[in-house]
Amino acid sequence: MKTSIIGYPRIGALRELKFASEKYFRSEIDAAELEKTAKEIRTYNLNLQKESGLDFIPSNDFSYYDGLLDTAFLLNAVPERYTSLGLSALDTYFAAARGYQGEKGDVKALAMKKWYNTNYHYMVPEIDDSTDLKLAGTKPFDLFSEALSAGVKTRPVVAGAYTFLKLAKYKGTKTAADFADAAAQAYSELLKKFADLGAEWVQFDEPSLVKDMTADDIKLFVSLYNKILPNKAGVKVLVQTYFGDVRDVYNELAALDVDGIGLDFVEGKRSLELVRKNGFPKDKVLFAGVVNGKNIWRNNYAKTADIVSELKKSASEIVIGTSCSLLHVPCTLKNETKLPEDVKKHFAYAEEKLSELAELGAVLDNAAYKDTPEFKSNAALHAEKRSGDSEEVRARVAKLTDKDFVRLPEFAEREKIQHERFKLPKFPTTTIGSFPQTAEVRAKRSAFRKGELSEADYNAYIEGKIADCVKLQEEIGLDVLVHGEFERNDMVEYFGECLDGYIFTEKAWVQSYGTRCVKPPVVWGDISRAKPMTVKWSKYAQSLTQKPMKGMLTGPVTILNWSFPREDITLKESAVQIALAIRDEVLDLEANGISIIQVDEAALREKLPLRRSDWHEDYLDWAIPAFRLVHSGVRPETQIHTHMCYSEFADIIKDIDDMDADVITFEASRSDLTILDVLKANNFRTEVGPGVYDIHSPRVPSEDEIKTAIDKMIDRIPADKLWVNPDCGLKTRGEKETIPSLKNLVNAAKRARA
Ligand code: GLN
Ligand code: ZN
Repeated sequence: MKTSIIGYPRIGALRELKFASEKYFRSEIDAAELEKTAKEIRTYNLNLQKESGLDFIPSNDFSYYDGLLDTAFLLNAVPERYTSLGLSALDTYFAAARGYQGEKGDVKALAMKKWYNTNYHYMVPEIDDSTDLKLAGTKPFDLFSEALSAGVKTRPVVAGAYTFLKLAKYKGTKTAADFADAAAQAYSELLKKFADLGAEWVQFDEPSLVKDMTADDIKLFVSLYNKILPNKAGVKVLVQTYFGDVRDVYNELAALDVDGIGLDFVEGKRSLELVRKNGFPKDKVLFAGVVNGKNIWRNNYAKTADIVSELKKSASEIVIGTSCSLLHVPCTLKNETKLPEDVKKHFAYAEEKLSELAELGAVLDNAAYKDTPEFKSNAALHAEKRSGDSEEVRARVAKLTDKDFVRLPEFAEREKIQHERFKLPKFPTTTIGSFPQTAEVRAKRSAFRKGELSEADYNAYIEGKIADCVKLQEEIGLDVLVHGEFERNDMVEYFGECLDGYIFTEKAWVQSYGTRCVKPPVVWGDISRAKPMTVKWSKYAQSLTQKPMKGMLTGPVTILNWSFPREDITLKESAVQIALAIRDEVLDLEANGISIIQVDEAALREKLPLRRSDWHEDYLDWAIPAFRLVHSGVRPETQIHTHMCYSEFADIIKDIDDMDADVITFEASRSDLTILDVLKANNFRTEVGPGVYDIHSPRVPSEDEIKTAIDKMIDRIPADKLWVNPDCGLKTRGEKETIPSLKNLVNAAKRARA
């Protein structure tokens, strides 16, 4: 059984590419030195893959910033505002990736979007009516040749024509279909070049095929490939899909003159059924994604063997591989020096997935695979009882009834009680939670962690920061205050560290975008709260002021979405466990005199399934109740806020209202307040703070500007439901711009009241 991967992380096991790129951006090293680091990473990865025995090794999965941006450059889809700067090729590329501000001009970066249902972000190619789509770049060929001269004939990976055209943004009157001929021509030439270079296979990544497809989408896809494939020039073509199943286009895909089809049997919930029902073409290779490319757990060989044996009934040649590119997992367990062995043995990062694939391939080749020592030890590993399992947690979950997910009395009644209790002015002003985090704050936190600062000294320091923050907010005249979140490095990590059941890694970095990486914690066992996590800080902050002090928590869905989840229990089960832990904190805050509690769900929308038909069943039907479980136990006069970092929830607006929070703050300032019409049209019940200015920029918004934003909001939102706040936390901002911005905000609200 042959083995294949779809792509490998390129950031480097110790984030070498990140650090080199950032040095290059600061002009501390030159392009040659950056390129040297890049080549070292590629060579290192190539050798790893070769030595692991992997049969299909990808190339061109390397990128200085993002693969789709590379494809835009490859296809000449680069807006003139970048090419006309007169920069080097590399700097033109980085200008499109990050924006450019210097002696040659001032341009913003291309837009960035989330890559399907992952935490990775891609740069959105921009196409206008004058874009001349054609094969313009050489990177895939150069990298193929580089690997070839190192003795490896790789399978070059390029974003497929359909996915590229679907993800691009069209600035003019033309649409994707208008560029189909040009794109097909470019991809045909690409195949010809690879044929000349001696490539055996080329991989076209088409993850857009797992999304809902209209008849026009299917037509576009089929017509593109019917134009490209006659020009294969002897190269074998693999159409690789991932992140789901291709239920809308399976038969069309199977009928194409491709040589391989890559399907995802991990996330593609109907993939197996599609093959079973429709069969698989005998003349094609089935690249079966059976090893999860998005999570860090060891593969379950028994499950994989079952899938493969099912597939064998239909497909004549099967290659096993990862479900998606390994870009979404960290590089290697080798650098995890602190994880205990009995934890580590459950994990497989990218490097370990290579050996896992090799082992699996060999095991599955054996007719009596169940008797192999590898299979047996894998079965034993998965049968082990997790050290973190808790009978107590399970029992608590089992006892929950529908009532636990419903807050009483209902919204309107609570709203009245709360208005009487708080007597806030119209358009109450508040912030989202964090205040500017200086280098000093970070240094103190890190000194405390390392044991260089005593707990007493650290607490005194944080209390001092809180006191300053409260005083500042009173001076500015905000109505509902926050403690500032100085004790938190990250809104998920902080809670993960306080909760039982979480595990933290040292070096499990995953690329989020460009040079930015995240290190998600791992849900290891059953989650519970050992002791209060935030109460002492909130209580202290409240003791300093007569105004309401918001308690600040992160919600269960966000905590889970930004972690590596368990695979031995469902996401829903983990979400309920986390919700119960946060619920305990909510009730403790309330018992300690905190009257307003904000539960952030910054990442709620992130894991919304790619297909609309799966939204409720697979996600919202447990995510929204999990949030409700967090706050259903509070008294009517306790006000529950939530916050989201975006306003793209028009299509799930009812579900957002169903979270049954009393107030929601979100980001509407950057998206032209369009969401407000949707709120109005849907009779949105929850009070709203749509965010009157953009905190992602250091600009100080003027009082007039904020007043204008408030006026627009008053047009569409009942005046007694409108809150005035920035659109996100202030921790990445400096005090320099924050203080005047908040003063302007408060004054604008006062003018609106008048
Ligand atoms: N309360 C958090 C903060 O203010 C929210 C952060 C976020 O929305 N990402 O920083
Ligand atoms: Zn936010």
